[in-house]
Amino acid sequence: MSDSPKDTAGQSLDTRLAHAGKAPAYFGGSPVNTPLVRASTVLFDSVAAMRETRARRGEERAFSYGARGTPTTFALEDAVSELEGAHRTRLFPTGLAAIGMVLLSYLKPGDHVLMSDSVYEPARKLVHSFLDPYGIRCSFFAADGRGIEELFEPNTKLVYAECPGSLVYEMCDLPKLAELAHARGALVAADNTWGSGVQYRPLALGADISLMAATKYLSGHSDVMMGTVATTREAWQPLNERCDAFGMTVSPDDAWLVLRGMRTLSARLQMHERHAMEVAHWLQARPEVAAVFCPALPQHPGHVLWQRDCRGTNGLVSFELQPGIGNAAVERFVDALSLFGRGSSWGGYESLVAWADMRAARSVTDWSARGAVIRLHVGLEAPSDLLRDLEGGFAVLGAG
Ligand SMILES: *Cc1c(COP(=O)(O)O)cnc(C)c1O
Repeated sequence: MSDSPKDTAGQSLDTRLAHAGKAPAYFGGSPVNTPLVRASTVLFDSVAAMRETRARRGEERAFSYGARGTPTTFALEDAVSELEGAHRTRLFPTGLAAIGMVLLSYLKPGDHVLMSDSVYEPARKLVHSFLDPYGIRCSFFAADGRGIEELFEPNTKLVYAECPGSLVYEMCDLPKLAELAHARGALVAADNTWGSGVQYRPLALGADISLMAATKYLSGHSDVMMGTVATTREAWQPLNERCDAFGMTVSPDDAWLVLRGMRTLSARLQMHERHAMEVAHWLQARPEVAAVFCPALPQHPGHVLWQRDCRGTNGLVSFELQPGIGNAAVERFVDALSLFGRGSSWGGYESLVAWADMRAARSVTDWSARGAVIRLHVGLEAPSDLLRDLEGGFAVLGAG
């Protein structure tokens, strides 16, 4: 494992994760963790003081009203900005809300957006539920970016990428995508939930906007929902203004939980990675498995780009069962697991299993002839116990 990337002050990202967004001086001393400040109303000593604070809050952080954030949410924003190497960050009640606000902030009726075929599926659904009715056209590009040059239109304003992609972790050449987009006057946004700012850093690779579901690894404990959007200085204002206009804010309690989770983000990811690689190698040797998806495996089509652009991998490993294995058998396998919980999401400390519908999740790539795809989130449990659990699943797979 290489040392983590350095920030502008020359400190390692691991160091910044321990210190970013720390508590301000507080009645003499200060606690290690930023205090939880809840507020709607903020009081001022005079009309002039109130006027002065409100006048500053466009560009800088000023504690003026709960909807504009509190010292707790400001601390989380600062920590995420350090993690992402960003100018500033806004927080959202969910990762999906972050995606929606990116589209709302950077696109208007008449515009065109290019979206990766590998996006998180609810983002794909926004095309019909939001973009189409608002007169914003969307085209999907191949998850590895192949042929994207031909898809740009004169009114293409945004390239929306997700790298590595959801479910099977396709890699695209983000610096190249950014070069193509910028030459045509379009911005690049990337969903960075997989990399969580530690394993992948889109802004350093040329993206203008990086969003994350902090629900996943940043929080790390499956008990809070949150989304983040971090941008470069140049891309900041449209997002900031739209968020203020819509009263977009999060609960300081939730921000406090995410901030606490972030302190152990890098340590947890290193353990998730180690365990996931053990599971991935074990799966590769199973006769029931047609393919294992994890960009850290040399067999993965995106492996070379992963080596170039990522610091490591995480707990996600998906695998394709042999195409002959029917739905009832797949269901038996998933139901037989006991350490891998059946449930949505991932990024907590615990292992999860999900049966992915690749046919619904891709439109550029044809998955119709392929086997069932199972996504594992490999948690912090001992790999030997996890492998025994999977062994039990494979034992009932053929027992129909
Ligand atoms: C989970 C996820 C989201 C959405 O996050 P929520 O907080 O569940 O809304 C967005 N993008 C990716 C890649 C995800 O995996």
